[in-house]
Amino acid sequence: MTVLLPGSTLGVMGGGQLGRMFVHAAQRMGYFTAVLDPDADSPAGRVSHHHVQADYLDEIGLARLSGFSDAVTTEFENVPADALARLAEKRPVAPGAAAVAIAQDRAEEKAHFMRCGVPVAPHAVIDGDEDLAAVGDDLLPGILKTTRLGYDGKGQVRVTTRAELRTAWDDLQRAPCVLEKLLPLAFECSVVVARGRDGAMVHLPVQRNLHRAGILAVTEVHDGCVAPDLAQRAVDATKAIAKGLDYVGVLCVEFFGLQDGSLVVNEVAPRPHNSGHWSIEGADVSQFELQVRTLAGLPLVQPRQHSPAIMLNLLGDLWFRDGQERTPDWAAVLALHGTHLHLYGKASARPGRKMGHLTITGGDVAGVRATALDAASRLG
Ligand code: ADP
Ligand code: MG
Repeated sequence: MTVLLPGSTLGVMGGGQLGRMFVHAAQRMGYFTAVLDPDADSPAGRVSHHHVQADYLDEIGLARLSGFSDAVTTEFENVPADALARLAEKRPVAPGAAAVAIAQDRAEEKAHFMRCGVPVAPHAVIDGDEDLAAVGDDLLPGILKTTRLGYDGKGQVRVTTRAELRTAWDDLQRAPCVLEKLLPLAFECSVVVARGRDGAMVHLPVQRNLHRAGILAVTEVHDGCVAPDLAQRAVDATKAIAKGLDYVGVLCVEFFGLQDGSLVVNEVAPRPHNSGHWSIEGADVSQFELQVRTLAGLPLVQPRQHSPAIMLNLLGDLWFRDGQERTPDWAAVLALHGTHLHLYGKASARPGRKMGHLTITGGDVAGVRATALDAASRLG
């Protein structure tokens, strides 16, 4: 493929915050952008040169997107793989439909990890009553997860007994599921990798993640945030997973660090990831610029982290206190050195909804931590 130079138009399927940050990165570099999203008021649609307001499988919408775009990427995990395949008949598309289809299905995703020789949690695929009956006691207590369409802990139920497992599966409308053993986590981490059409790969440093109620709350990235040998294992596994998918674009792999010192892969996102947002201010190449570069066929250079970073997710809960709606005190937070505010322009706040994030950078880890604590308390 020829290199798409600035002045070309880059298209993206999905208009959420990841699309918005992709659009910002692309526009900074002199590209035009086009977004397809059904929502008239989507975070990325509002800032893009072109917004095609259509469903992801709408023929006319897809034709309009490919009409505007010299190449197309995705920001949205559950964009129908069919839509990507359709677009690929007309324009270069990265990542490709086959890789996205695997990432969309927890059972296929786990099978892929095993093919790549990366350890996964003990699990069973539940697709019928026979599968339920055959579940070994060693998988309980466990987490029942729908194979498709889960995010931010949605589509998951924790179960301790067989009776609970049966009820949980009924509650999930007997959709195809994976039952995973509940693992004793010591920590969680993730790795963002970018892979070009020529197979060249670069990656961001390993990111340490803290989840609350199944939703990412905090990411911390600095030397030693994950022990070096485990960090190296995570990077090697991520590269093997990307290569095995013949992946082109930005991909993030989530890992569990277990109490016995082992590392288990959790899941993959075929796009930039919430845990990589810190790279906008904390590294000299962000995950969104990497997405632009892979899509445009530009050279990939290894990002250099120039500051320790902590990212705090800003969930809709912050917009409510004692049942009253309010605006968080942004001025108080921005009075602190090294705070970088991102708000995604979503019209209404809801508990658990990702409204924005705050990245804190600084000269040393202790200072960044102190500022993050201060910022969190100022946010109330
Ligand atoms: P999502 O697609 O919603 O991000 P995940 O599978 O990543 O779903 O699960 C969300 C969070 O739930 C994880 O980041 C982790 O904190 C917890 N979790 C998921 N699976 C397990 C498991 N097998 N053992 C322990 N904790 C888990
Ligand atoms: Mg996850």
